[in-house]
Amino acid sequence: MATYTLEGRTGTWEIVVGLEIHAQVISESKLFSGASATYGGAPNDHVSFVDAGFPGMLPVINRECVAQAVRTGLGLKAQINLESRFDRKNYFYADLPNGYQISQFQMPIVGTGIVEIELQDGTIKHIGITRLHLEQDAGKSMHDQHPAKSVIDLNRAGVALMEIVSEPDIRSPEEAGAYLRKIRQIVRYLGTCDGNMEEGSMRADVNVSVRKAGEDFRTRCEIKNVNSVRFVMHAIEAEAIRQIEVWESGGEVVQETRLYDPSKGETRSMRSKEDAHDYRYFPEPDLLPLIIEQAWVDELKSKLPELPDEKRARFCAQYSIPFYDAGVLVADQTTADFYETVAKGRDGKLASNWITGDFFAALNRTGTTIETSPVSAAALGQLLDLIADKTINGRIAKDVFEEMVDDGTMPADIVEKKGLRQVTDTGAIDQAVTKVLAENQDKVAEYKSGKDKLFGFFVGQVMKAMQGKGNPALVNEAVKKQLG
Ligand code: ADP
Ligand code: MG
Repeated sequence: MATYTLEGRTGTWEIVVGLEIHAQVISESKLFSGASATYGGAPNDHVSFVDAGFPGMLPVINRECVAQAVRTGLGLKAQINLESRFDRKNYFYADLPNGYQISQFQMPIVGTGIVEIELQDGTIKHIGITRLHLEQDAGKSMHDQHPAKSVIDLNRAGVALMEIVSEPDIRSPEEAGAYLRKIRQIVRYLGTCDGNMEEGSMRADVNVSVRKAGEDFRTRCEIKNVNSVRFVMHAIEAEAIRQIEVWESGGEVVQETRLYDPSKGETRSMRSKEDAHDYRYFPEPDLLPLIIEQAWVDELKSKLPELPDEKRARFCAQYSIPFYDAGVLVADQTTADFYETVAKGRDGKLASNWITGDFFAALNRTGTTIETSPVSAAALGQLLDLIADKTINGRIAKDVFEEMVDDGTMPADIVEKKGLRQVTDTGAIDQAVTKVLAENQDKVAEYKSGKDKLFGFFVGQVMKAMQGKGNPALVNEAVKKQLG
């Protein structure tokens, strides 16, 4: 694996990155109240007295949110802590009515784990997970609704978040992107977070530092709330370049919280970094410690869906396809299911080629998805059957496929209606060859005097004369025979 480095005036620098990902839990209701946790709705429609911080209201833990955190922990191959605890993190913010956030500080529900990422050059790397803890989200302040006032929407206040903290194992923007995409893929497979970064249901705090090779870690800065994979990658590079400049001009990087501005492609200081003691964390007095049973964890584990890494390995083994193909096909559950429907009982490699080639290209071109595509898995499977049983040849299959894309007709119907069956009648093929050779006597003479390349020309002409329907192997054979 090539190491990613940046060149400064004083030599080569390496970057060190750790990510804190906030992933909104998929659940009906909020972490500690019965209010709806669904996205959208009119402002302040999904707010209970608990979420609004009314005095005397007591939080009640939502079992499903805990289950979602455990599932995610299992998906990250992490340790599940049967005893964990909630703590109060105190800070003032207009959209935080309680004046504190209930989070897990000292005893998170999930401990250390491992995530496998794959880089462009095929290298596999392991990124350590430090922890995953549960916490509440805050509300939203809006400053663009009224000329003189700010308004607050508490719909999101109290919705469950999982904060997934990585070890500082990431060494390049590419690795950070691969890691973020992998986490998103895993939570989507698990159904624990929709991973939708545009809607803010997944966002990342990016910790960046730089160092010379062989050194200990230097001071880091944390870039808050970055909301796309691309921005995370850009922010890391911009911040690393800034820090190198600071160090090389004799200054010192100070630990602080920064913001990334995508339009300028740079980070700027937001506030000096607060430490844990600034938040006056203490055990949340309104909640008992969270005790879960191993039997329940085991039950959740037994019901987990097959995860992308395992599915990929199984696809390679079961359908004899290359590791690379399998990686593309397991990118999301829908693609993987589509592939399996097409490949089952057929040539796995041919199915993979059609899906990752013509089919994906058609989705792109027509702006459709697997769900909305006029070509169903059953239809594509039927097309592969028509090729396999030699009803049509590969060339004609491409044309048939384009018609399927146009209006969703089944391939067998297209073949019948248009009379596209492959011609395997050697008499008919011979006749076509004779005709083509007779019409091209000059070329035949050239061929015989050594211009071998013309062979392809004759085959092409015969195919053309047969409207593309000739069996390619038989046509080749017949041309060879008649040319002597
Ligand atoms: P805090 O609690 O102050 O946010 P943590 O020790 O929990 O700090 O680390 C937060 C994140 O910062 C983790 O993802 C960790 O991997 C990352 N991190 C820690 N040290 C460094 C460093 N020197 N350079 C880059 N990232 C770091
Ligand atoms: Mg932090």
